[in-house]
Order: sequence, then structure tokens, then C-alpha cells
Amino acid sequence: MGRTTLQLDTSFDVVSPATGAVVGSYRIFDTAEVEATVATARGAGDWWAGLGFTERARRLDAWRGEITRGRGELARIIHEEMGKPLSDAKLEIAMALEHLAWAAANARRVLGPRQVRPNLLSMNQECTLEYRPFGVVGVIGPWNYPVFTPLGSVSFALAAGNAVVFKPSEYTPGVGLWLAERFAEVVPEQPVFQVITGLGGTGAALCRSGVGKIGFTGSTATGKRVMAACAETLTPVLMELGGKDALIVDADADLAAAADAAVWGGMSNAGQTCLGVERVYVHTDVYDEFLTELVARAAELRAGTGTAKIGPITMPKQIGIIRHHIEDALARGARALLGGAGAIDGQFVQPTILVDVPEDAAAITEETFGPTLTVSRVRDMDEAIERTNAGAYGLGSTVFSRHNGKRIADRLRTGGTSINAYVAHATITSLPLGGIGDSGFGRVHGADGLKEFTYAKATTRQRFPLPLALTTFTRSETTDAIVDRLVTVLHGRNR
Ligand code: NDP
Repeated sequence: MGRTTLQLDTSFDVVSPATGAVVGSYRIFDTAEVEATVATARGAGDWWAGLGFTERARRLDAWRGEITRGRGELARIIHEEMGKPLSDAKLEIAMALEHLAWAAANARRVLGPRQVRPNLLSMNQECTLEYRPFGVVGVIGPWNYPVFTPLGSVSFALAAGNAVVFKPSEYTPGVGLWLAERFAEVVPEQPVFQVITGLGGTGAALCRSGVGKIGFTGSTATGKRVMAACAETLTPVLMELGGKDALIVDADADLAAAADAAVWGGMSNAGQTCLGVERVYVHTDVYDEFLTELVARAAELRAGTGTAKIGPITMPKQIGIIRHHIEDALARGARALLGGAGAIDGQFVQPTILVDVPEDAAAITEETFGPTLTVSRVRDMDEAIERTNAGAYGLGSTVFSRHNGKRIADRLRTGGTSINAYVAHATITSLPLGGIGDSGFGRVHGADGLKEFTYAKATTRQRFPLPLALTTFTRSETTDAIVDRLVTVLHGRNR
């Protein structure tokens, strides 16, 4: 049975992955409706930009209050739609609120007009730099963190002065609508933040609708399709894509802390985390001790309903991928120290730890998106770094080492690295989050995340005419000679 069922192509059902019960039915916005939504957003964007930083921040703070007071209800919708435990849903909301607060508080400082110094040949100019909103930003989001991830784009685009049209995942449309309804309570005047529900086709229509930018978070394969669609209208894109993050354990690491981080990083949210730990590389000197600690901790976890700390796999089709990664690794000589071939039961996957997995196996090279970890022995940190960097993805990474953390982190080709803690860099409000390679480009969060939803506007005002008039056909030979000498003095001595 499919996770989502179509009804005459005008609406779709959302099915609880835990129980199979239908938990909601939503409209499929067609191309005309998407275009009409974007058209209304244009006027709303002008109005919103005109409010200025202070009033926008006030409204965004009020929205934050609404979300905070309603977070119990929001967590329940997340839980019903995509299956994660309620307490994890609440933690996700808490982290998203931190970033929303930062975006509202810092937008003026990061984006507002500021004077910049001219260079010597333009010293008669007053120079102003500011970061202007695009007007309307389209946001396309995934289901795995249906609040934290889209709000990484939505909050920052709004704080920068854009209207937003958001297409949530077809697995979590109720979460997107709830957020927009709370926003409308604090911004009732104009449709500044609108949600369009639907399937992939609705997202594709948003890409072609003429919005100023698309903030996309999802899989690498869909990201390529989004880029192709956006290329038709030269619409710029932010690409937050998949990952295959590694956790590195050095010989001097706190092994208990490293094991705890590996278990949480790999198994929480049933492993369905873009920044989830999927591979672990351990120094040979501590490999056995670390593995014992890791397996003991993971063995205490159970995937299921009720009080289980791991929920179901959200998408039915992901089960086949997880099964393939496990079975392929085992067929190629790997061993399961926990879970393994029998770990899958319906939509639930029990924690699985694989060792001796060949480096070119799918379980090491492709995003698994399940509660599975591969653990590999390395002779030293050079080998750990080389193997971590060998993959096509470059989203995040984690290093556990008492003395060498920064040295190792500096050599990792990922958008962020957390040392002696899992995923800290994604939670710190002033730091940017994003990847390189197959993990995408552009950044959410922090100052970079605000600038992502703006264009830089440079303005000059001539304060007085220069004695040396340069950009004119009346320029004299004397002026040319003076400029020539100046250029030699300014730049000609560099070797
Ligand atoms: P998908 O790529 O399947 O979908 C992402 C979004 O794109 C959904 O809203 C989807 O709609 C929409 N979409 C599908 N087809 C198109 C299309 N042709 N044009 C425009 N939009 C389209 O990803 P998932 O939802 O499965 O999310 C999981 C992925 O997201 C993982 O790879 C994960 O690593 C990544 N991710 C990355 C993060 C990061 O910060 N880098 C954070 C969180 C997740 P619909 O659902 O209706 O098909």
C-alpha cells in the first residue's frame, strides 16, 4: 500500500506510517492555483517589505509566541503525519524557534544599509551597501524535520522582507498549514506566508512560477530536477540536499560520549536525518572498546509505537532501500552486531550495526535513511579523513578527540563539523548550515542564511567631482599620464 493515495488527482490522503490510518486529506494545487498564489504573494511581499525591520521582527516574535504556545498540538501533528516520537517532535520545534528568534533579531544588522569605504580612485563617492528582498520566495521542504528544516528557509526569507509560498512535503502538509495559520493570526492584513499543498507536480509548478528564489530542501535526485525547472526562468536556488555523514573516533576520544553521539546521531528520528551519522570510523587502538560500548547502548533501543524511542520509517519506498543496503553489505562479507537482515518488520526497522562493510558498498556510499550504522576500523586519523572525504556528499561530520579535534575537522570536506558533540553546528543560531558536493550549496541559518534570501544592492552618490575626471570622453592626456603613474605606485610594486 502506498503511503499517499490519490483521489481523482485533486486531493491526497496522508497516512500515519505507524498505524496505516488516514490522518488527513489535502488539496493538490495545480499550476494555475500555484501561479495565482504567487501573484497574491507579490503584493503581500511589497507590503511586508514596507513594514521595515522593526515591525517585521515584532510580528515574527509574535508568531514565535504562537508556535510556542501551540507546540503541543504541532508536535502531535508531526507525530501523526511522519511518525517521530512526540518528545523528539517537541525538541525539533524548540530548535526551530531558536533560529526564528535569531533571524528576527539580526535581520537589520546583517541586511540593513551600511556605508562602505571607497577605493582611492573613487574617493569622491559615498557608497552604500544593503541586502534587499527578492519579493516572493518559494520554499519546498521535506518531511523528516517538517518544522526545523523548512523554517530554516521560511523564517530567514520572511525576516529579510520576502513573502513566502511554501510547498510542504506530501507526507507532512498538515504541519505546513498549521504554521501558516499561526502566522496569519499575527499578520492578518496580507497573505505574506502561504502554503500550497500537493505532490511533486505542485513543487515543480512553484519552480516555474517566477518567484525570486527557490529554497529547496530534499533529496539530491529531486534537487537536480528542481534546478532544471528553475533554469527555465533563471530562478536562483538554494540546495539543501542529502548526506552520508561520518563520525570519527580518535584514539584519545571519550568513548562513552562518542558512542552516545553515534547512537543518537544514527538512530534518532529512525535514522531519517540529513545530518544523521551513517558511517563511523574508529582508530584501531580503541575500536573493540568503542564497539562494545556502542552495541550495548544501541541494544537498549527499540523501534515501535507508544514509549519506543524510535518511530516508524515514514516513506514505504525507503524500506526497500534500507533492506538493500543491509542485505548487500551482508552478502559482501559484512557482519551485523545488532539487527541486520531480520531487523525490518513492516514500517519499523530495529537498530542495526554493521561491521566489515566494504568501502564501495551502498551502505557506505549512499544515503540509507534508516537506523543503521556502519562501523569501520582505521589505522590512523589520516585514513579516517580520507575515507570520510571519499564520498560524493559533504553535509556534516562529527569528530571525537580530546586533543586533535580541530586538526581533524580542518581537513574534512563538509559544510560543518562538530567536535566532541553531535550536530552542534546545526543548532547554533549564528552559524550557517549547508553542504558541498552532492549535499548542495547555499546556506540556511546565521548571517549567510539571511543573505541567501536577498540580493546585494550597491548605491553610490558622487559627493564632489574629482579633479581627475576618468569616465568621460573629455579625459585629457595629462589625466591618463597621472593615472598611469598612480597605477604603477598602487599595484606595480607587487611581485
Ligand atoms: P524529496 O526530494 O523526495 O522531496 C523534497 C520536496 O520536494 C517535497 O516537498 C517534494 O514533494 C518536492 N518535490 C518532489 N518532486 C518535485 C519536483 N519535481 N519539483 C519540485 N519539488 C518536488 O525529499 P524528502 O521529502 O524525501 O526528504 C528527505 C531528503 O531530504 C533526504 O535526502 C535528506 O537528506 C534531505 N534533507 C536535507 C536537509 C539539509 O539541510 N541538507 C535537511 C532535511 C532533509 P512531495 O513530498 O509531494 O513529493
